[in-house]
Amino acid sequence: MTAPSRPPSVDKLARSLKASGLPHPILVDIAREAIDAGDHESAAARAEQFRRTLLTPVVNATGVLLHTNLGRAPLAHQQAAAAQTVEFDLSTGQRGSRQAAVGKLFARLCGAEKAMVVNNNAAAVLLVVAALAEGRDVPVSRGESVEIGGSFRVPEVIEQSGARLVDVGTTNRTRVADYAKAIARPDVDAAMVLKVHPSNYRVEGFVEETSIADLATLNVPVVADIGSGLVDATCPWLPGAPPAWLAGEPAAVQAIADGADLITFSGDKLLGGPQAGIIAGRADLVEQCLRHPLARALRPGGLVLAALQTTALTYLDKRVATDIAFWRMVATPIAALQTRAESIVDAVRVAHPSARVESTEALPGAGSAPGVTMPSVGVVIDGDLLKPLRQFATPVIARSRDDRTSLDLRSIDPVDDQRVIDALLAAGR
Ligand SMILES: *Cc1c(COP(=O)(O)O)cnc(C)c1O
Repeated sequence: MTAPSRPPSVDKLARSLKASGLPHPILVDIAREAIDAGDHESAAARAEQFRRTLLTPVVNATGVLLHTNLGRAPLAHQQAAAAQTVEFDLSTGQRGSRQAAVGKLFARLCGAEKAMVVNNNAAAVLLVVAALAEGRDVPVSRGESVEIGGSFRVPEVIEQSGARLVDVGTTNRTRVADYAKAIARPDVDAAMVLKVHPSNYRVEGFVEETSIADLATLNVPVVADIGSGLVDATCPWLPGAPPAWLAGEPAAVQAIADGADLITFSGDKLLGGPQAGIIAGRADLVEQCLRHPLARALRPGGLVLAALQTTALTYLDKRVATDIAFWRMVATPIAALQTRAESIVDAVRVAHPSARVESTEALPGAGSAPGVTMPSVGVVIDGDLLKPLRQFATPVIARSRDDRTSLDLRSIDPVDDQRVIDALLAAGR
């Protein structure tokens, strides 16, 4: 019987983990945990496990183009450590508004009088309802009293804003007369009506919703949370007609043209920009939002403002299909995906004889356009390779079903094809 090896000192063990690249204080904590657990030999594995919890770039091979767990719209943004005119007016030399430029660009883009930005669309809805309806009533269709993604629930947002929700119509059918009746009730003090796009699910059959144009005939402001930030339903930035999978997705330009007094949408869904929330519409109502105390708490910093500005300029310059990663993925022809998939299969066949090219269906993701898919091409390999692919230096996130691993080319940036090959070869060993 050999005596158990004496544990090394915490400091010595921490220093032995230096190659992990983690900072010394973190390594000290990990070393102490390992020694306390009576298993100092686990320290290196614990360090590796910690390293893998850090935010890290991955290859999205899931075919879900806007993957909420992978940061939604992929975005390249770099800036120098330089001072910026975040709140500085170059013409007067005085303090300026951080909302001025980005607000003008998004107003122009949406065909609205004025716009402003906050940290995400949940914040946008919260601010609009607080600014327009605090202490008053907000009629919402029962079919649109929805929960979207991680705990954005319309009734709770309205409550948090200090307004009262008034249920209108039924789950499957709500007509403009239902709204009018609610607004006319003597016990209801309607400040606005809120129309919410039920982004992540679809009701089919005997259904009816009230259009923005019909809601605009009511005598209260119409606020539409259009969700995913499709700028224009005609997609002028794509060659040909808008893709079929976009049908039914509300768009900013059309919502404003139809008479919405304010719209709100996300920056990192179909817009293809950074996480942000955009509020656009009537100047007086946007002013009301800008003046509300919550606006200060919800304002984005210079990084997000710069990325939003770049995104808006890209739309106005008509460079969307090449310069916005999401739309570049959407616009890639099937033939190009097919060629790339064939090259990958050729390169990995030595390690994976079952590798083959198959037609797949990619999804827009992020709750946009539920239940619809766009044609795509994948590399399919027998067996479940998800774990080894995740363990690669640049992790590759794929999908598996029925003991087959599928990598969808539409969500993979072509510059990452070699990484996918390397990861597959490593996973085959
Ligand atoms: C996604 C979505 C939200 C939440 O937007 P975030 O930018 O994720 O905060 C709110 N409303 C609708 C209709 C949405 O689709």
